[in-house]
Amino acid sequence: MTKLKTQDYIDREDQYGAHNYHPLPVVLERGEGVYVWDVEGNKYFDFLSAYSAVNQGHCHPKIVGALTEQAQKLTLTSRAFYNNTLGEYEEFITKFFGYDKVLPMNTGAEADETAIKLCRKWGYKKKDIPKNQAKIICCNENFHGRTITIVSMSTDPDAYNDYGPFTPGFVKIPYNDLEALEKELQDPNVAGFLVEPIQGEAGVYVPGDGYLKKAFELCKKYNVLFIADEVQTGIARTGKLLAVNHEDVRPDVLILGKALSGGVFPVSAVLADDEIMLCIKPGEHGSTFGGNPIAGKVAMAALQVVEEEKLAENAERLGKIFREEFKSIKSDMIELVRGKGLLNAVVIKPKEDKTAWDVCVAMAKNGILAKPTHGHIIRFAPPLVITEEQLREAMDKIKETFKEFE
Ligand SMILES: *Cc1c(COP(=O)(O)O)cnc(C)c1O
Repeated sequence: MTKLKTQDYIDREDQYGAHNYHPLPVVLERGEGVYVWDVEGNKYFDFLSAYSAVNQGHCHPKIVGALTEQAQKLTLTSRAFYNNTLGEYEEFITKFFGYDKVLPMNTGAEADETAIKLCRKWGYKKKDIPKNQAKIICCNENFHGRTITIVSMSTDPDAYNDYGPFTPGFVKIPYNDLEALEKELQDPNVAGFLVEPIQGEAGVYVPGDGYLKKAFELCKKYNVLFIADEVQTGIARTGKLLAVNHEDVRPDVLILGKALSGGVFPVSAVLADDEIMLCIKPGEHGSTFGGNPIAGKVAMAALQVVEEEKLAENAERLGKIFREEFKSIKSDMIELVRGKGLLNAVVIKPKEDKTAWDVCVAMAKNGILAKPTHGHIIRFAPPLVITEEQLREAMDKIKETFKEFE
């Protein structure tokens, strides 16, 4: 058997897989901490971290250990029966984030769907919104996943084109606009405001200081649930455990995913207090895999790693160094650098026919993996276990790359 080369792997995916992604032309086969290796043996710094799912670093031994240990005992019971791990996980995660209850799901999109259903239920049971009239406010340029209901909120044609008819009941307002929010909140049929504390997929849009706090207070004034989608921003990514912690906001409903498992397993969760969570009764929502024994053990280990290895503090400190270093690069292709903690983006000004895609391909050749979003923005989000020394080494490679475009 001859060993397959990079192009063979790419051709095979191209032939047998749906064409719903456009990956960079590297084929990875191994990961450890901040590094990944391709099938040719080249080593890279991973500056995407699977869209911030791998905050704890690739193949973290404690998280992989939790997975393999539980996988040999019990993997899935469904929720038709009790099992001896779910309660332990539920107690752990609710105490960790300070909520009465958790509803476990698997993917981010499912957790967002769950939050939407929970919010509507609360609207009918507690706010007395007339049947089927509940509305949820969401923001332009949002990203909450890929289901029909979720793309019904999207303002990105790539996400919603030719997928209609769409789910009604959403009101779209500009992000970072408190006036628009207050105007819509006055409608008594509004049950919730769903917001990303930083818009990740949109290109790491950081709202103005005080936006989240004031938005939360407005929601309280009008008896509307403040629902934070922290699937990408949560779990230490922005320099605090949650991005809302930067403004001392405690969402009524908190949505987590991605790094909740350290990228080892699909684990997502919705957290809320009893007043809200107990609006859903037995049989009214669920998931075969949600809260399975492996997921619970993996998520507990992943959260312990965040605490033990002080990942939030590391993200806060190294994020500042990253932005400082990036701003010192002299390149007419760099229009803007923005972000919080280790969730950052660089807006690229195309030069002749060279775009953000070309910069990413050139960075890959120099040992840095990052991916453009919306054509002209590159997100930089390494695993949070990165050290200062590793970050500075990576910055040198990034600087070298921009020099090649001079
Ligand atoms: C990635 C993401 C989701 C969707 O998560 P999936 O696991 O891909 O379904 C939802 N919300 C935000 C903010 C995300 O970044």
